Amino acid sequence: MNFLKKALDFIFPPTCGICGKIAKSYLCTNCKRNLINSQIFLNQSNSYQNKYINEHFYIFSYEGIIREKILQYKFKEYSYLSNTFCEFFINNKKLYGFLKKYDIITPVPISNLRKRERGYNQSDLIARKVAEFANITYYPKILIKIKNNKPQSTLNKEHRLENVKNVYKIQNLEKIKEKNILLFDDIYTTGATANECARLLKQAGAQELGILTLAKDI
Ligand SMILES: [Zn+2]
Repeated sequence: MNFLKKALDFIFPPTCGICGKIAKSYLCTNCKRNLINSQIFLNQSNSYQNKYINEHFYIFSYEGIIREKILQYKFKEYSYLSNTFCEFFINNKKLYGFLKKYDIITPVPISNLRKRERGYNQSDLIARKVAEFANITYYPKILIKIKNNKPQSTLNKEHRLENVKNVYKIQNLEKIKEKNILLFDDIYTTGATANECARLLKQAGAQELGILTLAKDI
């Protein structure tokens, strides 16, 4: 496997997702130095207006080059950027200290229609790799999206709350009872999606509920 990876890296060397240069990984040394802040931001639940999320970790504020890259990732089919985003999590040792208590990582789901259009669930690709590196069980099929609602990015705060109602459903209930769950999403904006997913997970018996996102729109 290792040999195969090395051979593939030789034929198709990774390019840095931020600057586009060929590099040893999907994030070159320069961009790593410029962008990685060893700090991981943590918001405890009391700073949020909801009772379902215990804590929220994120690495970037949603602006500048990070915002640009997330938009390309979500709307321009740049799926390889998931590798670059993963580098930010993987290189953040402080994060693993925080994540130790979680039993399961699960991504915010997207609808089947959206998945067909885009070809991938942007949160699933990243969460899967973060789980592997942090050695946390990954269950992608706990939350499912049963309605194809409007994209949250097209709506204002009030409409976003309304838009996520009755959109998600829990399955595989037995997997989450009394477990500490870490929900992964790419961006935290108003928190409407995260709150709704967290509410369902808590009501289904999850113990601690944390959110991990790449960025937060501040
Ligand atoms: Zn670079």
